Amino acid sequence: MSHSSHITAYISAGANLGDRAAALRGALRALGEMPGVRVAAVSAIYETEPVGGVTQPLFLNLAARLEIAVSVALTPEALLGEMQRIERVFGRGREGEIRWGPRTLDLDLLLFGDERRATDFLTLPHPRMWERAFVLAPLREVAVGALREKLEDYQPRPPARIWRESRARASSRAKKGPR
Ligand code: AMP
Repeated sequence: MSHSSHITAYISAGANLGDRAAALRGALRALGEMPGVRVAAVSAIYETEPVGGVTQPLFLNLAARLEIAVSVALTPEALLGEMQRIERVFGRGREGEIRWGPRTLDLDLLLFGDERRATDFLTLPHPRMWERAFVLAPLREVAVGALREKLEDYQPRPPARIWRESRARASSRAKKGPR
């Protein structure tokens, strides 16, 4: 909505080295500490097979919906820059890294409002998001509006397996009581 006071952005996070869940939690906390940024929804955590043919451990992946106050005038580039800083905090150096290889934390900016670009630094929407079950399965849980409709009938192939449910989902299930 054009008169909305916030921009909706979506990120995906993955980790397959070290304490994977701690890295994902730390990334969400760091994003939520940015001025004007609210982590509005977090998916369950999925455990997924690595893509790209490099033999490596399984990944944990999640997606989150961010609400960014228009008043802070955060650009998508500034958000990605901060995401890269957070990756470095969690031990991922960019030098010498194997493409498609193991990583302690990988953050991707999937969508930032309706922004579109294709520069060396940033492509929006994320160019590979529609091919990746490990992105789309969690994204489906946190999507709102037109994106939600687009993902409604999506069945991830190969199936992405839930590793741990988000606390929000788990508690809303608990409220419904035993089945
Ligand atoms: P990767 O190692 O696969 O996460 O790729 C990181 C590289 O992709 C960095 O050089 C980023 O500047 C670039 N990049 C381009 N578009 C995006 C995006 N939407 N989200 C994250 N990284 C991006």
